[in-house]
Amino acid sequence: MTNTITVIPGDGIGPEVTKATLTILRAAGADLEYDEQIAGVTALEQVRNPLPDETLDSIRRHGIVLKGPLTTPVGSGFRSINVSIRKEFDLYANVRPTRTIVPGGRYEDIDLVLIRENTEGLYVGVEHYIGMEGDPKAAAESVMIITRFGAERICRYAFEYARKHGRKKVTLAHKANILKYTQGLFLDVGRELAAEYPDIEWEDRIIDATAMLLVLDPYRFDVLVMENMFGDILSDLMAGLVGGLGFAPAGNIGTGGAMFEAVHGSAPDIAGRGIANPTGLLLSACMLLDHVEQRPTADRIRTALDKVVREGNVRTQDMGGKAGTAEFTEAIVAALG
Ligand code: NAD
Repeated sequence: MTNTITVIPGDGIGPEVTKATLTILRAAGADLEYDEQIAGVTALEQVRNPLPDETLDSIRRHGIVLKGPLTTPVGSGFRSINVSIRKEFDLYANVRPTRTIVPGGRYEDIDLVLIRENTEGLYVGVEHYIGMEGDPKAAAESVMIITRFGAERICRYAFEYARKHGRKKVTLAHKANILKYTQGLFLDVGRELAAEYPDIEWEDRIIDATAMLLVLDPYRFDVLVMENMFGDILSDLMAGLVGGLGFAPAGNIGTGGAMFEAVHGSAPDIAGRGIANPTGLLLSACMLLDHVEQRPTADRIRTALDKVVREGNVRTQDMGGKAGTAEFTEAIVAALG
């Protein structure tokens, strides 16, 4: 059955990388139909609402989203639409695979998966100023929420993911030495669950040491699971191991649907110049195809992408090449055969 998906091209470089991705999906014969919707600054400008009801309705109807990056104003303005969508549809598991694509970088053959809790932690957005006489913004505080329910379902997701994908080890990264209640609860739950998965090797590590070890010896890791903000930071670090944000895909999976997006943002510094690398969104689209049981099509696209990048004649600037988005896209379409 053909799946209809909601497509949100997004802000900044979003429309450029989305166009490239849809071109490749169509050329590869993906059995998908596309319901294009707006969100973010683009929607704010067009309909004065960064998350229009039509967009939410479309997601509700189709349950699967391919989303370009959305700009979030810093410090003031509307809250992150990415976070709103994740919350609205309870997309609790953020799956971020990291794989070496461009050879000759600092590390060869990286193949890691980070699973980030997507709905709790500091991202619940419970924060406020604490005023003092004469200074209403004298201090500010944010609340980190960790629930047993949230910790358990994300840790279980990580163990199940490891089993399903033939992975050997799960590392839970935490800061339970300092945040004894919140991070301690997350760690306790992970430890309890590990006992149910004797076939999967399990370890826990403090987050700062995990960051260092990822740089020194990433090969010791396999699947990593952690709470929201730690996952946000370490997944960018992991993208750095394989050449940067341009190569990092993500799937947000949950009870109300699934949303696939690149890890990178809207890159306002290069928007509109036709030089963005579409690989992050393209690999996210491949994760979407895996999700809707169209894995052979996803594999064909991944093989074509690898071929183009490994041959090295057509690469975008962030890969050290000279090609623009369109030329890189054409090369992948040609490599599909
Ligand atoms: P960014 O990821 O947009 O850019 C960081 C750097 O990486 C920039 O130099 C940019 O040019 C480069 N870069 C990113 N993607 C690239 C690509 N595909 N090809 C080539 N180069 C690429 O991060 P930022 O500048 O911190 O954030 C910009 C905006 O994006 C902010 O409003 C932020 O909130 C938003 N953002 C959105 C998402 C999302 O929608 N999921 C994620 C992260 C940031």
